[in-house]
Amino acid sequence: MAYMNLYWKVESGCNMGCVMCFRDHTRRIVRGYETKLLTEAKSAGFSAIILTGGEPTLRDDLPGLVRECSSYGFNVRLDTNGINLNREYLASLQEYLSILGLPLHGSTAQLHDSIARRQGHFEIVRNISSIATELGIPVKITTAVSRRNIGDAQNIAQYLADEIHPRIYGLNGVVKRSLGAKAYGDLEIAQAEFEELKERLGQGNYPFRLSFCSGRKDTERAYIFVNPDFTMSITSGDSEEVIGDLKTESLECILQRTVVDHERHMARSKATSL
Ligand code: SF4
Repeated sequence: MAYMNLYWKVESGCNMGCVMCFRDHTRRIVRGYETKLLTEAKSAGFSAIILTGGEPTLRDDLPGLVRECSSYGFNVRLDTNGINLNREYLASLQEYLSILGLPLHGSTAQLHDSIARRQGHFEIVRNISSIATELGIPVKITTAVSRRNIGDAQNIAQYLADEIHPRIYGLNGVVKRSLGAKAYGDLEIAQAEFEELKERLGQGNYPFRLSFCSGRKDTERAYIFVNPDFTMSITSGDSEEVIGDLKTESLECILQRTVVDHERHMARSKATSL
């Protein structure tokens, strides 16, 4: 059975507090199973590790984890808010990172910073993207599309085309699942609204690949996660279903008894990878 992207949440904490955040900030970090995870993920046929969180750069040992993932031959993507990055940090990862993932939720500092709830973050994203591009690290920008910014999505795409030059632009619909099954009526968008946006943007001629993820239809049993405590989960229903614990069982055993929508898993992996 083929697998592609494995999302490794290496950290549950974050130094930001975005309005739509759905991360589980409560899981404690366990260490000592990194080699087991990477060896077993390789044998299972995964080709890419996405280091994510929370905010993965809160971990001092993150550069070592990036290098270790790369040494196993995985394509490595780091999904980060960029706050802890600078030229020196990125240069040290240059030869190990396949792609850098950064968020952008508005085409103006005012809109983005209000959603990210951090003044100056719009400029951080612009600066870190520019450094990554100079260093030859491809950039993927992602917008969490909510009621607050759905009307700005075309402006964001144009801003990216003019200023940021990412390889991939991902638009993820903010729906119940991505809100951690909480009800944020003022943020959640309807599937029909997302489909309409997809059609509108899809007609544009942008110098990057567009990737749309509606949050429900596109994610059901498609995203496989390793949590900071080495439990594993999969996107299911309105939340993530825990499917096993790498501390006590093998990744192969966990996957054997887990229903994965392979077609969707491969489609989503390809849409968000180089
Ligand atoms: S940067 Fe990511 S993990 Fe941190 S608060 Fe924002 S959405 Fe949540």
